Amino acid sequence: MIRRDYEYIVMGLGGLGSAAAYWLSRQSGADVLGLEQFELGHVRGESQDHSRIIRLSYHTPGYVELAKQAYAAWDVLEKDSKERVILQTGGLDFAPRVSAIPLDSYSDSMKAAGVAFEHLDAAEIMRRWPQFQLTDDIHGLYQERSGIAMAARANAAHQRMAREHGASLVDRAPVERLRSAAGEIDVEAGAKSYRCRRLAIAAGPWSNQALANFGVELPLEVTQEQVTYFASPRRREFMPDRFPVWIWMDDPCYYGFPTYGEPTVKVAEDCGGAVVTGESRSFEPDPDRVERLRRFTGQLLPAAGAPLRSKTCLYTLTPDRDFVLDTVPGHDAVVVGLGAAHGFKFTPTFGRLLAELAVSGECDADVSGFQLDRPALTEAGHPQSWLV
Ligand SMILES: Cc1cc2nc3c(=O)[nH]c(=O)nc-3n(C[C@H](O)[C@H](O)[C@H](O)COP(=O)(O)OP(=O)(O)OC[C@H]3O[C@@H](n4cnc5c(N)ncnc54)[C@H](O)[C@@H]3O)c2cc1C
Repeated sequence: MIRRDYEYIVMGLGGLGSAAAYWLSRQSGADVLGLEQFELGHVRGESQDHSRIIRLSYHTPGYVELAKQAYAAWDVLEKDSKERVILQTGGLDFAPRVSAIPLDSYSDSMKAAGVAFEHLDAAEIMRRWPQFQLTDDIHGLYQERSGIAMAARANAAHQRMAREHGASLVDRAPVERLRSAAGEIDVEAGAKSYRCRRLAIAAGPWSNQALANFGVELPLEVTQEQVTYFASPRRREFMPDRFPVWIWMDDPCYYGFPTYGEPTVKVAEDCGGAVVTGESRSFEPDPDRVERLRRFTGQLLPAAGAPLRSKTCLYTLTPDRDFVLDTVPGHDAVVVGLGAAHGFKFTPTFGRLLAELAVSGECDADVSGFQLDRPALTEAGHPQSWLV
């Protein structure tokens, strides 16, 4: 076995881990190793596909502030990589006036954080975007900076730049064992063993398997979700300069995109998929959920046309749907990050904070709501609230 020593090892090179490796490499260059169990860019985790929604519109001022930092961090990556990974389209959050996800918390949070937005009634929404067909009881919030984070492209940019800054990223290297050793961490992966001063775990749906090495188990649920691409006969009306990203803030909660990455319109339901594991999941879309989505779009977004194909993806959910960003109790050399199935937009900032936490045990944002000892992660039977 070869022993190599690194200052930092990042376990998992999905969206979060790739960003953490990038930020660590900016500071520590060749002292950074990233390990990924599959090939880079694989589709078995949470971070693939063309697009994720990015938005300032959030249900707490804390998330709005974090989203502001995320935009700034994406900007750093774009400048460094000379690649575009964010596409501004504007974003619409809309719902019936009485809905499962009240729009008030979003408008209040944006007001508190000094983010401009517009409150639109159904008629104004349909005037701006005639693709929608809405009843009078529907209203919405429009925020102009919302848009698309180009997921696969952004991950590749983080990985490329991490390597350019000197990091080694090794794919097809499953981490099999982690062990604290004299304040450092021994990592066995892909028939090799390494020792590092600090380990950052960004294992998404496999987080509990990783944390089990340190006696920690979180009440996570991994669900199999799916997105559906519609073959719109009116595709031009869905180009990014004519149509926003949108979220239907009710139960079920749906969201969608302008045409991006392929000549279709992407729509999906948030949550609602079967509970699985990274191993037990299938890649078969659930036809009942496609049908539910077809009925929803048929009513509210008929211009989207008919479903063409669907892709599956995993969510890793905490009971409160808040992130995890913390040092593992009793193991100061280990930090862990988890995006709770809404983390992609934050990946560059999340990666930076995870890197800071790994380097110094502290980070320069209020992450107190993301700690491992919060009631949602420690109290048995804590209620699940995924619609936020
Ligand atoms: C359909 C869908 C839509 C979404 N929409 C949005 C959205 O619009 N906006 C938004 O902000 N977020 C969205 N999200 C959530 C967001 O994509 C995730 O929060 C984010 O991608 C999580 O990234 P991650 O790096 O934590 O997980 P992953 O991408 O799953 O990465 C974890 C990595 O760790 C690796 N790994 C695990 N175990 C090991 C091991 N033993 N050894 C080595 N490697 C290991 C895995 O192979 C994987 O590559 C969506 C998610 C899905 C699935």
